[in-house]
Amino acid sequence: MPIKVRDVFKKLGGREVLRGVSLEVGAGEVHVVIGPNGSGKTTLVKTIAGLLEPDSGSVYVDDVDVTGVEPRDRGVGVVLQGAPLLPLASVFDHIAFPLRARGFRESVVDGRVREVASRLGLSDKLFSRLERLSGGERQRVAIATAIVTGTRNLVLDEPFSSLDPVYRMEVYSLLLRLRRDGYSILVTTHIVDDLLFIADRIWVLLDGVIGEAGSLEELLSNPRTWYSRRILRHTLTGIAACNGECGLPGAREAGEGLYLIPYNTVSAVESEEGYEVVRVIEIDGARIAVLDTGIGIMYAVANPSLRPGDRAILVPRRG
Ligand code: ADP
Repeated sequence: MPIKVRDVFKKLGGREVLRGVSLEVGAGEVHVVIGPNGSGKTTLVKTIAGLLEPDSGSVYVDDVDVTGVEPRDRGVGVVLQGAPLLPLASVFDHIAFPLRARGFRESVVDGRVREVASRLGLSDKLFSRLERLSGGERQRVAIATAIVTGTRNLVLDEPFSSLDPVYRMEVYSLLLRLRRDGYSILVTTHIVDDLLFIADRIWVLLDGVIGEAGSLEELLSNPRTWYSRRILRHTLTGIAACNGECGLPGAREAGEGLYLIPYNTVSAVESEEGYEVVRVIEIDGARIAVLDTGIGIMYAVANPSLRPGDRAILVPRRG
C-alpha cells in the first residue's frame, strides 16, 4: 500500500486533534480527505509528512513503517497549504532544490528537473522567475518540487483553496494525469466540488475522527454522517438540479467562485476525437460525465453508453 495511516492519535496544545485516524491510499488512486475547518486535515498531512510525529499510531509509505523517520527520507512528496515557494530565483532552481540538497551531480539534476517539468507542463517556464508565475503555475512548481526525487506518493493540503477557478481546474487535470501515470495521491479539502472532479475515494474527517469513507456514489446513496447527509448531498444535488437558470448564463457559480457549466445544456457523446472521460458519476439518477479537456475539467450529462476512459464530445442537448 503506497500510503497508510494506522490508528494515529495526536494532541496539540492540550487538545486531541487526531483521535485514532486510519486510512490508506491504493496505487494509482486519488483519495480526498474532506472535512470542515478545524477537523484535523492539516495535522494529518503534517503527520504523514513527518513534520509532526503521532503520539501513538503509525505511518507507512510503500509498506515501510516511517513513523519517526525524517521527512526527507519518507518517500512521500508533500505540498503544504499556503506554503510560499522557496526564495530561489528560477523555476529550475526551485524544482532542483531537493536533488541538490541530497548532493546529486548537476547532470543528474538537469535530467530529472527537465523530466518532471515536462510531465507537469512547465518545460517552457524552467527559466522564468518565480514571481512572474500565475497561481496555477506556482502550484505546479510546488508539485514538481515534491515529486522530483522520484517518489510516486504525493500528499497535498488544500491545494485548491487559494486558486482562482480556472487554475483549480488546471490542477484537477494535472492530478488526474499523475494518477494515470501511477501516482498515489492524497488531497485534503473543505470544498465539496473538488470531490466531483478528482476523488476515487473520500474520507470524511470530523473532529479528528474518520466518520465514514467510500466512493462519492456510496456516500451519496448511503450517507452515515451529518456531513455527507447535509453538506455533500445538498451541494452535489444542488449542482445536478441546476438547469441553467442559476447564476451566469451558461454557467453556475458553485462554492468559492468555481464556475460549473450546468450539465443539462450539453451532453457528452462518444467520439473518436474530443476529451477523455475521467469518470461518470450518478447523482439522483442523472449520469454526469467528467471530461478532461487538457486545460481543465468540464462536465456534462453522459449518454447511456459512455464509460470512463472513453473519448467524448459535447453536443447541445435537446428537450
Ligand atoms: P484543518 O486543517 O482541518 O482546518 P487543523 O489540523 O489545522 O485542521 O487543526 C485542527 C485543530 O487543531 C484546530 O482546532 C486547531 O486550532 C488545532 N491546532 C492546530 N495546530 C495547533 C497547535 N500547534 N496548537 C494547538 N492547537 C492546534
